[in-house]
Amino acid sequence: MTRILHRSIHAKLPVAVAGRGIELFDADGKAYIDASGGAAVSCLGHGHPDVIAALHEQLDRVAYAHTGFFTTEVAEKLADRLVQDAPEGLDHVYLVSGGSEAIEAALKMARQYFVEKGEPKRRHIIARRQSYHGNTLGALAAGGNEWRRAQFAPLLIETHHIDPCYAYRYQRHGESEEEYGLRAANLLEEKLLELGPDEVIAFVAEPVVGATAGAVPPAPGYFRRIREICDRYGVLLILDEVMCGMGRTGTLYACEQDSVAPDLVVIAKGLGGGYQPIGAVLLAAKIFEAFAGGSGFFQHGHTYMGHPMAAAAALAVQEVIRRDDLLANIRAMGDRLDERLRQRFGNHHHVGDIRGRGLFRGVELVADRATKEPFDPKLKLNARIKREAMARGLMVYPMGGTIDGVRGDHILLAPPFIVEERDIDEIVSRLGEAVDAAFAA
Ligand SMILES: *Cc1c(COP(=O)(O)O)cnc(C)c1O
Repeated sequence: MTRILHRSIHAKLPVAVAGRGIELFDADGKAYIDASGGAAVSCLGHGHPDVIAALHEQLDRVAYAHTGFFTTEVAEKLADRLVQDAPEGLDHVYLVSGGSEAIEAALKMARQYFVEKGEPKRRHIIARRQSYHGNTLGALAAGGNEWRRAQFAPLLIETHHIDPCYAYRYQRHGESEEEYGLRAANLLEEKLLELGPDEVIAFVAEPVVGATAGAVPPAPGYFRRIREICDRYGVLLILDEVMCGMGRTGTLYACEQDSVAPDLVVIAKGLGGGYQPIGAVLLAAKIFEAFAGGSGFFQHGHTYMGHPMAAAAALAVQEVIRRDDLLANIRAMGDRLDERLRQRFGNHHHVGDIRGRGLFRGVELVADRATKEPFDPKLKLNARIKREAMARGLMVYPMGGTIDGVRGDHILLAPPFIVEERDIDEIVSRLGEAVDAAFAA
């Protein structure tokens, strides 16, 4: 008997009672390797002593002070750290409690920026199909997962979507990666011209697409061309690094590897590593200056924004990543994970694509490798794999709807940044058994 409206009413969930390192433990004492960090959240694993110590210390000082009355040392320090390491040109931070909240704030900031600048005509948001930007109404409207949007469509603000940059499904025969990247990016220009470029506020995209498509990195040159198009028409570029940011791909920001800097970047999951709920928007100097020289404030706010406990957790997580040089470990272990996945699944009849960056990897499953035909969604292959993996003490993040929100299956892996070689080998070994068992059934 439960009084919680759980994510799935008829599923029976184990009770988590403890976490240590890369493992979580249930009430029966069973251990699970957290190879997905939940949903790419637990980047330092569980029970990290430095983060716990920082939280104790903050709790003893001050747990909460409303941002309408006070700032706190810990929130200021976190903002300094984030700006110091930010993509070029981003010089202020807005702290909220999660990814959806941060996306909402970024969309409103982008709109207010143009109002401050005397361009109130700008009203359109363009994003991509097969993206996820959160579940609140503005974020859901920006997202491009048809299945998630469908029943709420009457409540959603008007947004526009172009095809994602998804080479496995969209790159044409005989087209080079660069040619494909350019063609995919030019879809933005077509859409801008269709809508009237001086009526568009922003383009929103995940540099490496997370949950909806399974760690899909952009083609080379794609984001450089996107940046050029945004600059040409005065449109803001909002990058959603909620899942792929804060080190996950081997650089602090995924967009560093594509040599672009956005006007607004949104981060959350790995920012606090699950130790507290937190999200943030980093904004370009020109946006801050438009507010500072205009109305003098951003017309927004939440009760728990800039929460000291959340800031303490995020600051500690980010300090540990830097102190322990975990970015180097992400790159090394990411390469090993890719190699092991290719050894185990490279010749598998039902694995169409293995992709990703750093400790952010996706495996796309297909019924037929030659035609890339997906499995019948009714088989719920992704749910079977999740079940078989949990039975073997492994958390991965399998999802359906990879191709269009309904068809397609993939498995997302996002292990903690502290994994070692033998952990990677064990993860791939258990995943191999889980996948085989799912297909056998
Ligand atoms: C998870 C996610 C969000 C939403 O974050 P929440 O904290 O769940 O609200 C937004 N964008 C991306 C890319 C995500 O992965």
